[in-house]
Amino acid sequence: MFIDGAKHPVSETFSVYNPATGEIVGEAPQASAADLETAVAAAKAAFPAWAATPDADRAAACLAIADKVDEHAEELARLITMEQGKPLGGVGSRFEAGGIAAWARYTSSIAAGEQTLAEGDGGNVAVHRKPIGVVGSITPWNWPALIATWHILPAIRTGNTVVVKPSPYTPLSTLLLVELMNQVLPAGVVNVVTGDDKAANLGALMSAHKDVRKIIFTGSTATGSKIAATAAPMMKRLTLELGGNDAGIVLPDVDPAAIAEGLFWAGFINMGQTCAAMKRLYVHEDVYDAVCDALVSYAANIPMGNGLDEGSVMGPIANRMQYDKVKALADAGAKEGRVLLGGGEHDGLFFPLTIIADLDNGNPLVDEEQFGPVLPIIKYSDVEDAIAKANALETGLGGSVWSSDTEAAKAVAQRLECGTVWINQHGMIRPDAPFGGTKMSGIGVEFGQEGLHAYTDIQTMIS
Ligand code: NAD
Repeated sequence: MFIDGAKHPVSETFSVYNPATGEIVGEAPQASAADLETAVAAAKAAFPAWAATPDADRAAACLAIADKVDEHAEELARLITMEQGKPLGGVGSRFEAGGIAAWARYTSSIAAGEQTLAEGDGGNVAVHRKPIGVVGSITPWNWPALIATWHILPAIRTGNTVVVKPSPYTPLSTLLLVELMNQVLPAGVVNVVTGDDKAANLGALMSAHKDVRKIIFTGSTATGSKIAATAAPMMKRLTLELGGNDAGIVLPDVDPAAIAEGLFWAGFINMGQTCAAMKRLYVHEDVYDAVCDALVSYAANIPMGNGLDEGSVMGPIANRMQYDKVKALADAGAKEGRVLLGGGEHDGLFFPLTIIADLDNGNPLVDEEQFGPVLPIIKYSDVEDAIAKANALETGLGGSVWSSDTEAAKAVAQRLECGTVWINQHGMIRPDAPFGGTKMSGIGVEFGQEGLHAYTDIQTMIS
């Protein structure tokens, strides 16, 4: 672990497994509650100097991080593949490592900004944005290094210091990332602690720590609720990026063959283990059979295998816990629906890409976030009914509408209760476009100017 700019020794470790082979990829340090104290104390001690560092120097540090990560991109990508399972190529671990540098460069280019209001009664009013203090970052296992970057970069860009705690399933890529960051940052600005939740729930301890002034959390809604409850008495600032159950709505005027590839990647990116993957698909009855056929034909030809093999386009499910969850929901879907693709024998955590037709709201596969390579398809005849069903759940992360008529699609899209809506695509994100969930999918946004502002407190100065 990196604490206060140096490797921090620990006496215990836990094993990290490659989901493709079941083999141990490496041992990660098991932090104790005392180690977490040391990390928070280091971040707290580093805060005053980092907050006072000129803005241009902090921008330059973000650029230096981008260059460092570029130099080590292949090493980082291979580590991500080995601990998480996603393939090196395509929308896989090289894409993830490349995203880190892109986000770092963008974050360097924006600033929190100051505002001076027009002169009025009572004097001049200036609105300053000040860093909050020590930020605790808690990350999930699906895009481990990229999500850590999304948390850390805007925090340090605005003058905060950070303690990051990665998922116990994927700690190794974050350890490397923070080591690289420490080669260009002053000691204590970014610290990392790792641990198995069963040995010491570091995330819970960090949420309860009085010196951690903000928590940025990406993970499940259940854990997000616990963090919010713990943080409430201390008025901790929170950004919560939580679970989604994104709906796609296909209007009757589509060309099924033309949208099949887009629909596939919408649902199956990273084996469906993406918060804003399309997790349920509503298709108009006029094109229902044709869309199902086109999607199944596309998905049937996708090669699956060990992510280190360059030919693999899909890898395994990232861990056993997730596999069991996906399997149970796929079984619930298969009970009531028509399995068009999937089922049968398979090895280890390589769950076959699965498409199940003729389901409806009310089936667990539709109602719950399956977070895996299983897509339920629902037939509708009235678009009002599709919109109502898309909005019926408590999640509100993303959604999409597919149509040959962009304006008609936009009219439907703006009625979806979610933070991001896409037309004829699903899941594209950019560092300058705010991203976050409505309803139970989260509080606040990341990315863009709004995302940066979430790491600041306002001080209004009247003179
Ligand atoms: P999770 O909630 O199980 O774990 C996330 C992190 O929280 C891990 O680091 C874990 O160790 C930690 N944690 C566990 N218990 C905690 C506690 N009591 N207090 C504080 N931290 C605790 O989620 P996961 O299984 O790692 O990730 C999958 C989930 O993440 C899915 O629901 C997915 O939709 C969501 N996700 C959301 C986004 C988004 O941007 N909205 C992005 C990626 C993933």
